[in-house]
Amino acid sequence: MKNFTFKLDYIHNATLGRVDALPVGSRNCYTFIGNQVDKVINGKNNDGLEFYNVPSIELPSETNDGSIFKPNIGDVVLFNPSGVCSIEYESVSHSNCILLTERCNSKCIMCVQPPKPCSDSLNLAFALVELINNEPQCIGITGGEPTLVWDGLLELLNRCKEKFPSADIQLLSNARLLKNYTRSKALSEAGGDRLIVCVPIYSDIDQIHDKIVGVDGAFWEAVNGIYNLERLSVSVEIRTVVQLMNYKRLPQWSEFIYRFFPFVKHIAIMALEPIGLSLNNLGDVWIDPVDYIKMLEHSIKFLNRGDMEVSIFNQQLCTLPRNLWKFSKKSISEWKNIFFEECERCVEKSNCAGFFSASKNQRSRGIKTIVPLEEEL
Ligand code: SF4
Repeated sequence: MKNFTFKLDYIHNATLGRVDALPVGSRNCYTFIGNQVDKVINGKNNDGLEFYNVPSIELPSETNDGSIFKPNIGDVVLFNPSGVCSIEYESVSHSNCILLTERCNSKCIMCVQPPKPCSDSLNLAFALVELINNEPQCIGITGGEPTLVWDGLLELLNRCKEKFPSADIQLLSNARLLKNYTRSKALSEAGGDRLIVCVPIYSDIDQIHDKIVGVDGAFWEAVNGIYNLERLSVSVEIRTVVQLMNYKRLPQWSEFIYRFFPFVKHIAIMALEPIGLSLNNLGDVWIDPVDYIKMLEHSIKFLNRGDMEVSIFNQQLCTLPRNLWKFSKKSISEWKNIFFEECERCVEKSNCAGFFSASKNQRSRGIKTIVPLEEEL
């Protein structure tokens, strides 16, 4: 989600609109199809299923901070009375996510989006799904912890499954509430066979995982949740964020995943995003990726030899040995993906994950322009 702040004094209610026509000529005039978010209940607006046309809106060509607002046809934009507007869905992106709530039942030490009470956004989620008019390859549902909005989550999964029958539905969840088999069963029925649940397991040691997520017992709850999903044939991805508390045990962690969860579809080993609580707690969480390369290499090779699908997320190629490059994915959402000065001359820029915009706060000391091999010699 990209945020822009305008001085708009004519928006009186939160309004969601899909870009239907781009500006023509010199006026920055967009045409939207949309609705007021508070009028949308469970995917239907008060007047039935029709969305009315929001008249064309002439927007300032620059936002308050001077950035340029340039949505594409099919993007869905939320206008708030405060003047903040955000692109909630990007038609050209493969990493769109629907935020269901900012509430959470864990308190991860490196949470990038600290939990907020009273932050469910079910109406917005349903209105958004109704306005998306090109079927995405994949749609994410995220939080906070989406399973806290239980009934709404099931309804949203059903709606996504119905509206986007070929899309993968990626649910990011700590899986703690899924320790209950009945709940897992309801989730699997609502999500269907294109659902994949992405669950963080931060360590092979329960106390370390629980310390990272700030809740005693969270490890075993997540483990039981994963086994319930497996029993119900729901695809699972396991994730970890490498940090000060868990980097030394990455090799043991991968052996644990291999032995106890051989059925998982994908394993993602992620570098930190230095924002939110991660930035507040930087001294307790930050470890430079170049300082855990040996452990990472061991883990990746071990899992790969065991025929498990494993990827490295959020890590720059220049901080990785060449033999690990093929595991690195361009995993950072387009809207927060940046590159630094060193990258301009780098021959691997188009293959590199780059940085989070928050990496301005903290980045690896290993960042170095990659030059053509013949220049290296
Ligand atoms: S210099 Fe930049 S583009 Fe090149 S590998 Fe490093 S981070 Fe990636």
